[in-house]
Amino acid sequence: MHKFLKMAMDFCCHHEYDPKMEYHLCAIVIKGGSVLSVGYNKHTTNSFVEHYSSLTRGFNRDFCLSTHAEQSAILRVRGKIDLQGCDIYVVRRKWKESHYGIGRPCETCQHVLYNYGIKRAFYSIDDNRYGIMKINNPAEEYNAMANDRIENDIEFMQAV
Ligand SMILES: [Zn+2]
Repeated sequence: MHKFLKMAMDFCCHHEYDPKMEYHLCAIVIKGGSVLSVGYNKHTTNSFVEHYSSLTRGFNRDFCLSTHAEQSAILRVRGKIDLQGCDIYVVRRKWKESHYGIGRPCETCQHVLYNYGIKRAFYSIDDNRYGIMKINNPAEEYNAMANDRIENDIEFMQAV
């Protein structure tokens, strides 16, 4: 497994999440091999989250009314650190089963990541595989819907 995804999995396992969270997500922002920020999902929201959720279409909007791990990670350092050109690593774990699932950033998070200049997202697919998503402007991809299709991501990697 990729080094930084493994790191995100370690953080994910050791973080104390809201007790009601069915899925535990962790996102880490990386630049030049250094960890710039770490974020976890939580139930609460704020004006930042609500602003970006309002850019999102249809059913995704309700789904996005909590703070996602990617948003937490950006919120923690925005305005303090230039995030242009960073990568983000996202893992998602169903805690009851202790297995990893698809942690691909949702449409709202894509808006956030695009706005802060994050260039790629690496995300868990399952315990052994991950995907890489190029962060494009989700607003420009509205018609094509291409950005919602996992098959269009840059590549899938198998763990070695
Ligand atoms: Zn999200």
